[in-house]
Amino acid sequence: MKFLKNLRIFSNDLAIDLGTANTVIWKNGEIVLNEPSIVAYDKTTDRIIHIGNDAQEMIGKVHRDIEIMYPMKDGVIADPRVAEGMLRAHIGNIGGNWARKIIVCVPSGVTEADKRIVRDTCEHAGAKEVHLIAEPMAGAIGIEFNGERLDVLEPKGNMIIDIGGGTTEIAVISAAGIVCEQSIKVAGNALTEAILRYLRNEYKLVIGERTATNFKHNAASAYPLEQELEYEVIGRDLVSGLPASKTISTVEIREEAIAAPIKIIITTMLSLLGQVPPELAKDIYERGIWLTGGGALLKGLGHRIAEETGLQVHIPDEPLLAVARGTGYVLDNLSKYRAVLLKHSAYL
Ligand code: ADP
Ligand code: MG
Repeated sequence: MKFLKNLRIFSNDLAIDLGTANTVIWKNGEIVLNEPSIVAYDKTTDRIIHIGNDAQEMIGKVHRDIEIMYPMKDGVIADPRVAEGMLRAHIGNIGGNWARKIIVCVPSGVTEADKRIVRDTCEHAGAKEVHLIAEPMAGAIGIEFNGERLDVLEPKGNMIIDIGGGTTEIAVISAAGIVCEQSIKVAGNALTEAILRYLRNEYKLVIGERTATNFKHNAASAYPLEQELEYEVIGRDLVSGLPASKTISTVEIREEAIAAPIKIIITTMLSLLGQVPPELAKDIYERGIWLTGGGALLKGLGHRIAEETGLQVHIPDEPLLAVARGTGYVLDNLSKYRAVLLKHSAYL
């Protein structure tokens, strides 16, 4: 009996969150891979030499024959050949060079042509059957609240804000469908870029992309912190051309550097809330808003959104993995969740 209980049927089916910033893969009931969507490519041999974490290590430190590539842009595949190479290598690394069935999530407002590219890329990477699901839907399914999974099939409004690298997706979901949604190209990357721009303009300091991202994770916030701090940032002085360090406060980063992109995200959210039909608005009022994606980890963002909307804001454990978990849950319970998969046009 004990043996039977522990028996699992292993399959090569995969759920994939092919994000602009991170690729997350679910297999056999768990997350098996979570690496940046980055590829290091050797131009002389026309070959991918590193993917994921290994490629990220090389950013800003490579010689001229090697190019660092980001196959995803704004949530969609920008470079199908590189994306396919990256996926194929990841699938090989997690064991098994083929996958029977793959479910991938895509931004909710994605075009038919972009969906086609995702399908083709997965098929070329070895899948026999590919299904797509909208990211906010997957994010909602990936959320457990008070020990229970959000029920996206019931006719009740759930509002999800997924802040990734390239896009912020704001959606209201009810009865297995998306009632209204808005996707904007202002998310994690825009915050990093805003910090880079601020340091360059105000401090004449140029810093690398990785340093800027780490700095953002440590020092950026969307709401006053219990303890405001000062951080040292090291880069190159634009005027002297020499390595230099500057001290920047968390207040300055919040109120000057990233204020504008945060404002855009909040304004978009408020305008979408204004379009929600009244019965669903009531549900959202009672249940609150869920934040997913890496952007949900920005310090104080939950507080800020709660203050601006007057609604409760929930952030699940590991918001970065919610979309992949939801996609995985759909894969493992396909007959229950078939209604949430995207239909695809027969003409493309
Ligand atoms: P995508 O789905 O586009 O791949 P993710 O949901 O993986 O994106 O989120 C990646 C984004 O989240 C990046 O811009 C990253 O810098 C940001 N991020 C991750 N951790 C934090 C943090 N602690 N504070 C602020 N932003 C964060
Ligand atoms: Mg994402």
